[in-house]
Amino acid sequence: MCQLCNSIRSKYVCPRCNISYCSVSCYKSPNHSDCSEEFYKGNVQEWLAAEGTDPEAKNEMMEILKRINQQDDEFDDCIDESDGDSDEEESLSDRLAMVDLDNPDELWAKLLPEEKQEFLELIKSGDVAKLVPEWEPWWEDKHPMPKIPKRFRATSAHLSEVLVNCPPTKTTTLNNGMRIATEDTGDLTATIGLWIDAGSRCENESNNGVAHFLEHMAFKGTSKRSQVDLELEVENMGAHLNAYTSREQTVFYAKCLKQDVPKALEILSDILQNSKLGEYRIMFSNYLIISLNLCFIVHWPSCSGENEIERERGVILREMQEVETNLQEVVFDHLHATAFQGTPLGRTILGPTQNIKSISRNDLVEYIKTYYKPSRMVLAGAGGVDHNELVKLAEQHFGKAERGEITADPSLLGSIRYTGSEIRVRDDAMPLAHVAIAVEGAGWESADNIPLMIANTLIGAWDRSQGGGLNNSSKLALACTQDNLAHSFQSFNTCYKDTGLWGIYLVAQTLSLDVSITDSLR
Ligand SMILES: [Zn+2]
Ligand SMILES: [Zn+2]
Ligand SMILES: [Zn+2]
Repeated sequence: MCQLCNSIRSKYVCPRCNISYCSVSCYKSPNHSDCSEEFYKGNVQEWLAAEGTDPEAKNEMMEILKRINQQDDEFDDCIDESDGDSDEEESLSDRLAMVDLDNPDELWAKLLPEEKQEFLELIKSGDVAKLVPEWEPWWEDKHPMPKIPKRFRATSAHLSEVLVNCPPTKTTTLNNGMRIATEDTGDLTATIGLWIDAGSRCENESNNGVAHFLEHMAFKGTSKRSQVDLELEVENMGAHLNAYTSREQTVFYAKCLKQDVPKALEILSDILQNSKLGEYRIMFSNYLIISLNLCFIVHWPSCSGENEIERERGVILREMQEVETNLQEVVFDHLHATAFQGTPLGRTILGPTQNIKSISRNDLVEYIKTYYKPSRMVLAGAGGVDHNELVKLAEQHFGKAERGEITADPSLLGSIRYTGSEIRVRDDAMPLAHVAIAVEGAGWESADNIPLMIANTLIGAWDRSQGGGLNNSSKLALACTQDNLAHSFQSFNTCYKDTGLWGIYLVAQTLSLDVSITDSLR
């Protein structure tokens, strides 16, 4: 039974005084006001504390207060009327309540004599113009975007809320030019990596593919550890060691537990600075053979000491075959080849077969000497990484490396040129067409990059296997669903230092291809 009204079965228990009660009205009743007042006060205080001094929130609060005030006024009015106290003059707004404001005669008739007088005087003095709000052309409006009330934005995170969860990026530059950047989230795991300003863009026709070849050779052992040692060490840490090569960067990175960051960085620095690039293997083979049979020694040195490199050629050629079965990769290689024709960005990352077959240890050493310099490296860390600790470790492992200036042909950097053009490779035996259409995009540092990224997000990506049907927010996705235009599409914004490719990649039935292309261009 409700202990407040003693008449209805109780449903709730007050968390403050443990009294059982039946309804909100009983909770709010005067003999329970000690608790209810406290409860509302607590709510307001909590809300104020959370909202801080957000001016928008303040406005909302003021509106709420105004509404409450109005309700009170209406209540008072009711009392007034019931008292029969209505000899007060009708206010202007009451008189005009039912009048058609576009009908001047009707309006004029409703005005009191002194109001008519006042209006005529305003016209005479010309002050009437001040009553009309000044017209501001829409194109001069400084805030063309409509301001969305906060309550409609409830599902999207506020910028300040997002920023709270983003630790600041700290950066330091060592004396030799190496840069260190970290974002410490305090996690138990960390990712650290070395981003080297050296990708296939730095290559020329004869050594195209060397950056990627190097990435493969890096895990073949160093002067400190053999390949097996390296693999065991990484596995025993439960870490993950990997690398990739792009057109502008070569990256070596490790994911590991927070406390293993020093060791992971030591391994990365060892790989980068002491890789044997196939040399070690030869010593190993010689040693084995000496112990087995002396007569073999004669043969081994004539193998030019590049056993590991020879083996890796096969691995890379197989990787190349794999890439060629991935039609998306093939299309993007063609896209680069034609859009940046005759310039380093037009070349592939893997390089042509003949280069993969002919790249020598000397090419690798030469490339490292030229590009793997502290001034071209960024050591980046995220997760559980302490910035100062990482700087200290970097100083320890890379501090002695000499700065190194960019010794490569400086004209290389300015030689990228975009050419509007197209490549078609027709194979009627294939059921689907894979197409990429692009315009020249913006480089990383261009102010246009962010708008392009947003445009990219708006177009989005879509695949037939996705649910959603006609409820897609992307217009292109909707068109694809309705008219069966394509199997999938995705917009892309590929950025380089000074240029980029912005466009859309789609897979469509050859018969509907024309329509899908014109539609996506629209
Ligand atoms: Zn009750
Ligand atoms: Zn209570
Ligand atoms: Zn590879």
